[in-house]
Amino acid sequence: MQDTLRPDPHAQIKDEVRKLCAKFPGEYWRRLDRERGYPTEFVTALTEAGYLGALIPEEYGGAGLPLSAAAAILETVQSEGCSGAACHAQMYIMGTILRHGTDAQKTAYLPKIATGELRLQAFGVTEPTSGTDTTSLRTFARKEGDHYVVNGQKVWTSRAEHSDLMLLLARTTPRDQIERRTDGLSTFIVDMREVLGKGLTIRPIRTMMNHNTTEIFFDNMVVPAENLVGVEGRGFRYILDGMNAERLLIAAECIGDAKWFLNKATAYARDRQVFGRPIGQNQGIQFPLARAYAQMRAAELMVQAGCAKFEAGETPGEEANMAKMLGADAAWAAAEACIQTFGGFGFAEEYDVERKYRETRLYQVAPISTNLILSYLAEHVLGLPRSY
Ligand SMILES: Cc1cc2nc3c(=O)[nH]c(=O)nc-3n(C[C@H](O)[C@H](O)[C@H](O)COP(=O)(O)OP(=O)(O)OC[C@H]3O[C@@H](n4cnc5c(N)ncnc54)[C@H](O)[C@@H]3O)c2cc1C
Repeated sequence: MQDTLRPDPHAQIKDEVRKLCAKFPGEYWRRLDRERGYPTEFVTALTEAGYLGALIPEEYGGAGLPLSAAAAILETVQSEGCSGAACHAQMYIMGTILRHGTDAQKTAYLPKIATGELRLQAFGVTEPTSGTDTTSLRTFARKEGDHYVVNGQKVWTSRAEHSDLMLLLARTTPRDQIERRTDGLSTFIVDMREVLGKGLTIRPIRTMMNHNTTEIFFDNMVVPAENLVGVEGRGFRYILDGMNAERLLIAAECIGDAKWFLNKATAYARDRQVFGRPIGQNQGIQFPLARAYAQMRAAELMVQAGCAKFEAGETPGEEANMAKMLGADAAWAAAEACIQTFGGFGFAEEYDVERKYRETRLYQVAPISTNLILSYLAEHVLGLPRSY
């Protein structure tokens, strides 16, 4: 399937990622899916090749690549049938430390994250009671001398069992003492190796796809004050700062998923003979695939527009949100068309279609649901009254 940008500035990276992914075929992912295992070998290979440190500046030991290169890496991981969900967060969570951390934090963490010596895969934002309404979260970090004492709970903290560090968003000022609802929240780097079993409990949540996600409980967990990122009370803004990059990268993954489904479905439709002719000759099979392809190409352009703005130092809020929604929709349309094209065989594990189908459904909900993207566009782009 051709790339939209020609010549593609990231063609070489894509070729290299393709070669790496070829070492992790469908059977590798099927076994992990059955066991709900973590793709340690795959994540190690990506780390050693420098891909997970793509966005870390060279002065901190990373590759110092632009966001569009990181998007190309994740898109290719998905289009080759692998799963970036096991490690994609490492690419963008570190942005909070890079933009708002002290020099000491940047020097202590970023070079080790770049080499893989430290894994920053866990991002603790969502809570069971607050859900999408992040500013009403309840986990509280109380300052006591040279440390904070954290109590509360997070849910859907993915990869926590496979990470050394967690970026945590917690309340530091009670809700009834703040002026604006976005105040009073702070970000912390939690070294989970030091507090696991000592105030930190991690429980895996089994989900419809293999995502290594967990719920987390904090019971008087101690975090050194020096692990506060930036200014106390401004954490929500820091998290928002990183969301455009996150949405553009997830959109790129969805485009990769759409390409995987379309490649798989078109190959099968050309080959499979029913009533003495290829099923791909029927317009009932062709049209959903053609439509999903057009959706994917449109989403791809939106990712490129968002990355270009981001790389020019502008804020691509509109593009990042639209790219995430269009990408997730394109991936889901392609998944639907693919499973339908495969007929009964789409449901058999060995073709990988049902597994990818389950995996790509997530992006209608996380990291932000489609409804909330539409609300963002209605309010911030179209100037309509806030609906919630
Ligand atoms: C597998 C998985 C992995 C995840 N990983 C992480 C992670 O690593 N870190 C992390 O912090 N979070 C993570 N999440 C959480 C994810 O970001 C949330 O699930 C998502 O933001 C939705 O929040 P919620 O589940 O609480 O849904 P709710 O907020 O309860 O919403 C439920 C439904 O109501 C809709 N809704 C709510 N309010 C409105 C409104 N005002 N207007 C219209 N519709 C509305 C939503 O769109 C949604 O469809 C993960 C979730 C999953 C399932």
